[in-house]
Amino acid sequence: MALFDQYPVSLTNSLSGKKEVFTPLYPGKVGMYVCGPTVYSNVHLGNARTFMTFDTVARYFRYLGYKVRYVRNITDVGHLEGDVDEGEDKIAKKARLEQLEPMEIVKQYTEDFHTVMRQFNILPPSIEPTATGHIVEQIEITQRLIDKGLAYEVNGSVYFDVKKYHQSHHYGILSGRKIEELMESGRDLDSQDEKREKIDFALWKKASPAHIMRWPSPWGEGFPGWHIECTVMSTKYLGETFDIHGGGLDLKFPHHECEIAQATGANGKPPVKYWLHSNMLTVNGQKMSKSLGNSFLPSELFSGNHKLLEKGYSPSTVRFFMLQSHYSSTLDFSNEALNAAEKGFRKLANALKLVKGFSAAPGATVGDAQLEKELNRMVDECFINMSDDFNTAKTLAVLFEMSSRINDIKSGNIQLSRISNDTFEKFKSTYIGFMEDILGLQEESAQNDALLKDVINVLIDLRKKAKTDRNYSLSDRIRDDLKQAGVQLKDGKDGEITYSIES
Ligand code: AMP
Ligand code: ZN
Repeated sequence: MALFDQYPVSLTNSLSGKKEVFTPLYPGKVGMYVCGPTVYSNVHLGNARTFMTFDTVARYFRYLGYKVRYVRNITDVGHLEGDVDEGEDKIAKKARLEQLEPMEIVKQYTEDFHTVMRQFNILPPSIEPTATGHIVEQIEITQRLIDKGLAYEVNGSVYFDVKKYHQSHHYGILSGRKIEELMESGRDLDSQDEKREKIDFALWKKASPAHIMRWPSPWGEGFPGWHIECTVMSTKYLGETFDIHGGGLDLKFPHHECEIAQATGANGKPPVKYWLHSNMLTVNGQKMSKSLGNSFLPSELFSGNHKLLEKGYSPSTVRFFMLQSHYSSTLDFSNEALNAAEKGFRKLANALKLVKGFSAAPGATVGDAQLEKELNRMVDECFINMSDDFNTAKTLAVLFEMSSRINDIKSGNIQLSRISNDTFEKFKSTYIGFMEDILGLQEESAQNDALLKDVINVLIDLRKKAKTDRNYSLSDRIRDDLKQAGVQLKDGKDGEITYSIES
């Protein structure tokens, strides 16, 4: 029996607002799409919380035996300031201010995003498509919506006709917003005259002469709207209907509501079976956000170099801190909570190290019945809690119980001979599996190894650049100093540089 049959997952579907038993569209497979970052600035800790949530979800599905296709996009065009259809493109604006090419901005912040993901041990998705890589598909679906009478062109821009859509469907199905109220309360936007109704949203925007990011289309030169990219990339890689769509709670409206309208309008069926939203990281009760000035970067958190921080914390401590609350609750940042998390994580990490060093007692086939029952209950509860809407908080509570038993084994309070081999192996692999594979909590030394690898790769890139610039004294110095530090670089024929660490 597969683990996913033994421990069926239930999750809170934002569409119904209820907990539902997860039934995949294709047996044994999970298709999941999560809105990725807009790469115009460094990711802050709040963003990291959302990606950590869905990383844990994907990891758990995999552990249960599902084949998971996890798509997380990179928004590299079309996300306008203020998240409405007016204002400058966030990336284009940054490029203008820094006098760089938009794609230089995209590269820089995509790399930053990946670094942060690695630091938090957030695994890469199966596919990471970019909005600019799917312009053709975005034009195609926009045309389809025009052909179906659900979108209209005005002066080189194309807007989705929400009122028309609402005649045969339900706009507001996800967010619970009422279209009549939205039409009343919409802000007076500059493009008001272009749109038939305030509530309509852009599928394609005409590029003004100064706009740098532009592509030819049947409606003239322009760029895609923000919502359409996710519809295109999710349906392209997961199908017109797929299992799970996730993102931060602040994306529910308008972004995800618009995604549902576009996809349903274009394909005639709802795109997503289960909508999952992860709640916000807050600071003194306020959403952490760059624009509010209360955000800090993961690097500041690790170094402790920020006015809100008393000291630095390791990535695993921070990950543990995040997992201590359920993804659907807000989580307030505080130094006290992080200090407590540091202690808690250490306890679990010590037990992890210990349990890895234990082996079942030779020949123990029957154990102490009471003890066996307790250990098996803990194993069971880890799965039951995670399958209950990914309740990481309750799962951690069981891992603490398990860590106490591990310490009992270490101190001799419990002899391994009292535990049968089967029970011990299950207990051990469950503890390690939940800590490392599912919750992504690493021993600190493993984290340091990952950090070292990143640092060496930075130096290798610098050496390559120095060589390209014919700055041989610098490239030699990087090689020689690394050798001094015990890292041997090897130049390959193809210009690639590999390394080995002298032990
Ligand atoms: P953005 O790059 O602004 O589109 O955000 C990337 C992801 O981070 C989205 O899923 C947002 O919902 C999420 N996000 C933004 N701020 C926070 C926060 N304070 N806490 C949790 N998630 C957030
Ligand atoms: Zn999206």
